[in-house]
Amino acid sequence: MTVANVATRLDVDVAVVGSGFSGAIAALALCQRGRRVALIERGRHPRFAIGESTTPLTNLLLEELADRYDLPRLRAFSKWGTWQRVHPEVACGLKRGFTFLFHHLDATFADDDSHARQLAVAASPHDDVADTHWYRPDFDLALVRDAEAAGAIYLDETHLDGVRDDGERMTLTGARGGRAVTIVADFVIDASGPRGFLSRALELGESSFASLPRTQGLYTHFADVERWDTVAPPDGEPPYPLDAAALHHVFPGGWIWILRFNNGVTSAGAALTDPLAAEIGAADGARIWDRLLDHLPSVRAQFVGARPLLPFVHAPRIAYRCSRVVGDRWALLPSAAGVVDPLLSTGFPLTLLGLARLLDVLETTTPGDKRRAALANYAQQTHDELDVTAALVGALYASMDDPALFKRLTRLYFAAASYSEAARRLGRPQLAPGFLLHAHPRFGPELRACAAVALDTPRDATSARTALFDRIDRAIAPFDTAGLLDRTRRDWYPVLASDLIANAAKLAASTEEVERLLERCGFRRKPVPGV
Ligand SMILES: Cc1cc2nc3c(=O)[nH]c(=O)nc-3n(C[C@H](O)[C@H](O)[C@H](O)COP(=O)(O)OP(=O)(O)OC[C@H]3O[C@@H](n4cnc5c(N)ncnc54)[C@H](O)[C@@H]3O)c2cc1C
Repeated sequence: MTVANVATRLDVDVAVVGSGFSGAIAALALCQRGRRVALIERGRHPRFAIGESTTPLTNLLLEELADRYDLPRLRAFSKWGTWQRVHPEVACGLKRGFTFLFHHLDATFADDDSHARQLAVAASPHDDVADTHWYRPDFDLALVRDAEAAGAIYLDETHLDGVRDDGERMTLTGARGGRAVTIVADFVIDASGPRGFLSRALELGESSFASLPRTQGLYTHFADVERWDTVAPPDGEPPYPLDAAALHHVFPGGWIWILRFNNGVTSAGAALTDPLAAEIGAADGARIWDRLLDHLPSVRAQFVGARPLLPFVHAPRIAYRCSRVVGDRWALLPSAAGVVDPLLSTGFPLTLLGLARLLDVLETTTPGDKRRAALANYAQQTHDELDVTAALVGALYASMDDPALFKRLTRLYFAAASYSEAARRLGRPQLAPGFLLHAHPRFGPELRACAAVALDTPRDATSARTALFDRIDRAIAPFDTAGLLDRTRRDWYPVLASDLIANAAKLAASTEEVERLLERCGFRRKPVPGV
């Protein structure tokens, strides 16, 4: 339905507020189930949005949603290869893995043969099945167009100013182009991001993540960013081109991300703890960025010829945790309920996990006690997953001046993520309960304990440090299906079929099942050009 047909009063089953990727996918899925859906957006597409880098789990969740709701166009977005073939007009970046480079402030980057100051973890064996960075101006617009084509009523440039629950239905009020808008809905999904619509309208309150430092964000899109592998050529053949990745420059007190798209645009930004931001000094966005690069000469070399394409965004506070997540007739998606940090690209999988759960609640319950209980469970899971992510990310911030510890801690993430992906792909999601396996009776408590110990262990407490490293290794050993404990890899980890096959038993699978899985996923199959 086109905007021109929109009446001032709409009566729908579900109103979705916010048309980023999550709101658009929610609307698409609901339309596929025959629901009448209004998708309400304050702004207008195409528009800049932050949050761009995907992971294998993100893309698997996208695939699962696409299969469940019969959305082949959405499925094509889950891999670099199908994306290029089906949606060549939608820009994106090739993400083959996670690259971390550890810098001293005010010193040129240097490393040794053991790669003590870097970590490269591949996420895919070749480009065709690789992850992507979403160029959100294009990507979100494409999804909104698909939602409209599926029947969603899309209202952009709509300013909502009120919400009322009359005990049976929700009423949203606002204005669009000077005309009053009223939307009556059985249920409201808030996909409007952190500090979004319902959190303000219902004054839901904010609480903090205990172990996370206060951080600020500074970011924009650039042209002409130099590749890292020309600034500092790798000493050998890395598991993937180190720039075809989420490139992280880590330093005491913060880090910089660099994500390259296939349209000449590069997303880059920094997350800085308050003390480091204060040291750099208050200034406008471009000058903060410049002052930061003054302390990072090798990163500066990547930006010598670069120019920002948009004004810098300075987010004075990155983390956000909304105190309430649901009511009887409304729910916040995880991305509206909280933000931890861009580190480890956790925003998308958390959002998609929550979206799948919420859609399930709406499909399998009707208003009443059962739905109330299901929504309470959804809220608890949403908070638990945000909190465990914050615990790990908090420990990573505390170890940004200690690459060995930082790298060890990231293995908790990589082990949990790769195990979860394999378990789900093998049809055994019950083996991997919760994001980061946080609900697993053995892994979950160990993950939280290791993160807490990392925060508390002084750097010079040698034996406590060794004990923590051993504890992390012991925690991941039963779940390591990616060779993360293999020291001979010098912290360059490829994705190898042999690792998964050798560790089939950890997934309660036979080697034949794993072989079939690899075949299904296109692991060994490289596409013929042009096909
Ligand atoms: C600096 C930073 C970097 C990040 N990087 C990553 C990353 O690399 N990978 C990752 O997985 N996650 C990342 N995240 C998290 C990621 O940004 C979010 O998970 C993701 O953007 C959520 O998308 P969304 O569609 O739910 O919401 P959003 O992208 O926030 O979209 C919300 C939409 O709602 C609209 N809206 C807002 N208020 C209203 C209103 N009152 N009425 C109507 N419409 C409204 C907005 O205009 C917008 O279009 C990052 C977060 C930050 C802060």
